[in-house]
Amino acid sequence: MKLILLGPPGAGKGTQAEILSEKLNVKTISTGVMLRTAIKEKTELGETASRYINDGKLVPDDVMVGIVKERLSQKDCKNGFILDGFPRTIAQADALADAGIDIDKVLLIDVSDETVIKRLSGRRECSGCGTPYHVDFNPSEKDGVCDKCGGELICRKDDNEETIKNRLSIYHEQTEPIKAYYEKLGKLVAAKGREELKDTTQEVFAALGIGETK
Ligand code: ADP
Ligand code: ADP
Ligand code: ZN
Repeated sequence: MKLILLGPPGAGKGTQAEILSEKLNVKTISTGVMLRTAIKEKTELGETASRYINDGKLVPDDVMVGIVKERLSQKDCKNGFILDGFPRTIAQADALADAGIDIDKVLLIDVSDETVIKRLSGRRECSGCGTPYHVDFNPSEKDGVCDKCGGELICRKDDNEETIKNRLSIYHEQTEPIKAYYEKLGKLVAAKGREELKDTTQEVFAALGIGETK
């Protein structure tokens, strides 16, 4: 399964990607996690990326296309992958097609702008493995500590109200047109982002036509 997760920031893409990854036994490629790792490791990519991310702007297409193509060419993506956070522009979607990377389905998880703000203000992310949590809606077992790897949970720098608003308007302008792009190709399926995490998961599984969570 070669799957793209599409939706506004905070829709639950990372959260559902994690669940789908286990269920489908394919890797999740999250461009946000890749970029934040590069920033932490102070690489050249990280330096470029931080200039954009901190303002809630998109990293330029040529940079993103380069790293994603390289990542998808690795062995662990041979039998499929879940792309979380890419493509975010029509140019990025075109680049995938031009590279001969054939996508099976594009899953849209949609939530309102209002919900986005509520979700992102309480989001925490593991600094070790990138797993997302929420202080109220999806807390870790032990305060401030990742259930999976024991890493420290942090609040992302770009999850502040002003940057969230920038990210939302960029989403509506530059990323949302991707819906129509894949709809035309007959690849778009949609799940409603629900209040309860497990309800969203149910919608996601139904949209993809895969069996129940257990
Ligand atoms: P969110 O969880 O809010 O959807 P991500 O973790 O996917 O955000 O991405 C965080 C930031 O990284 C984005 O706001 C953007 O600056 C940058 N970024 C991630 N993926 C891309 C991409 N495909 N194209 C351009 N910029 C990207
Ligand atoms: P995205 O990757 O689309 O930016 P995340 O998966 O990081 O979104 O989720 C954003 C925030 O909302 C996180 O704090 C996450 O724990 C929380 N969250 C995800 N799905 C739900 C849901 N269905 N209901 C409530 N909170 C959720
Ligand atoms: Zn972790």
